[in-house]
Amino acid sequence: MFTAWRTVGLLSVQELRRLQFARLRRFLEEQVYPFSAFYRRLFDSHRLRPQHIQSLDDLRRIPFTQKSDFLPSDVNPEGYRSFVLQPSPENIRRHWPRSRQLPLLLRSWLFGKEGVRARLREEYQPIFMTATTGRSAEPVTFLYSKHDLGRLEVAGERLLEIFGVRFDDRVVNLFPYAPHLAFWQSVMAGFSKGVLVLSTGGGKVMGTPGNIRSILRMKPSLLLGVPGYVYHLLRTAYEEGHDFSFVKRVVLGAEKVTPGMKEKMVELLTRMGAEDVCILGTYGFTEARMAWGECVTDWRVSSGYHTYPDLEIFEVIDPGTGEPVGEGEGGEIVYTCLDSRASCVLRYRTGDQVKGGLRTGPCPHCGLTVPRLSSDITRISNVKELNTTKIRGTLVNLNVFSEILSEEKEIDEWQVEIHKRNNDPYELDELVLNISVRDGMRTEMVESQLRRRLQDATELTPNRINVLPLHDMLLKLGMETELKEKRILDLRPKN
Ligand SMILES: [Zn+2]
Repeated sequence: MFTAWRTVGLLSVQELRRLQFARLRRFLEEQVYPFSAFYRRLFDSHRLRPQHIQSLDDLRRIPFTQKSDFLPSDVNPEGYRSFVLQPSPENIRRHWPRSRQLPLLLRSWLFGKEGVRARLREEYQPIFMTATTGRSAEPVTFLYSKHDLGRLEVAGERLLEIFGVRFDDRVVNLFPYAPHLAFWQSVMAGFSKGVLVLSTGGGKVMGTPGNIRSILRMKPSLLLGVPGYVYHLLRTAYEEGHDFSFVKRVVLGAEKVTPGMKEKMVELLTRMGAEDVCILGTYGFTEARMAWGECVTDWRVSSGYHTYPDLEIFEVIDPGTGEPVGEGEGGEIVYTCLDSRASCVLRYRTGDQVKGGLRTGPCPHCGLTVPRLSSDITRISNVKELNTTKIRGTLVNLNVFSEILSEEKEIDEWQVEIHKRNNDPYELDELVLNISVRDGMRTEMVESQLRRRLQDATELTPNRINVLPLHDMLLKLGMETELKEKRILDLRPKN
């Protein structure tokens, strides 16, 4: 049911809105309301019916879905399972229009009841899953049917087109092998576009020497991976004196990519012989079961993420009032799927904050007219409550630390630790920063500069800064041993 990318990618704003409204209405009437236990209950409790949604603006009549809705509760004992579409003969008969029931009827005459069941299984039966990565929060599982795997392929093919990948390009996928979206999105992208992708599984599976050997043998024009690990791999390859002149693009995912990080990578690759390298970011989350990308630009500018308006609706809202904000204005990202099966969400509040919001109209870099989401996104993770004074705990957004630390050119690697003073649970919290500095940098200067920048941005400075040799730092981070390096460690005793 998806529309070809070349068509949908060039529609006008009005045409896109018409297409989205038609899809939304049909999706609510034929899929969500009849088959989703969570949304049928939600609609019924608000006396809302799919027919009440008469325009795209009426979308806001549907209450938000929150992360907490995925956890089992008294009202929703099934937790995330209640979001999975579950058709039954009765609700198909009751909710589907005749035109949609007819093919099923025909199939039952030809192949009997089992024939109908097989057809429905293909569309609805969960056969694949990915989960959220949060360390502290309860992991949430999202399921895919064969239909959804098809959508993951569609998104993958579109991503590679946005990155300007051609059929003779070769790709090395360095995302960690895990039931996480980034790894599988990259695998499926290769399958659907028909380009050669080697998925190494990342540092933990093949080790950095193994990854570098594979890259040297395959000479890929595109590398995919998590910023921290890709940077580590490039730095190691550079120190070993390798030639990476074949690399044209680096695509980063799963974490925010700061301009400083892009610059550091371009610098390393240029020293290894690569020319006109492009570093591109992606955005994706488990609940959407697909990812979006930046198009090809100079590394100093970001096009924003190109969304798929035939497959989803993005909104940006004021997190306080819940009201949508204007074009290009910042707020919280809200996501509604339009053509999904298995786990489906409507108006899902991601918690991610975007500066610069959504923009419509043609992209100045590639000409696509799909809505573009600014790439200045801060993920909700890593907001910690700290008691640094006797008075009360304050919420500290450690993402700001991440941004500043990965942006600093003098800093090679870093890690934040939160302790209790003297390891006493009744004492105050302490913030300790471990860093390794780049060769030739004066540590005292880097330290005092860093304190000033952190103080300006967060009104908080670390109690201690430890400067460590790079080797020790890499061990502490678990660069070769963990799925995701340990950037922020909360070492306070749990009550
Ligand atoms: Zn573009």
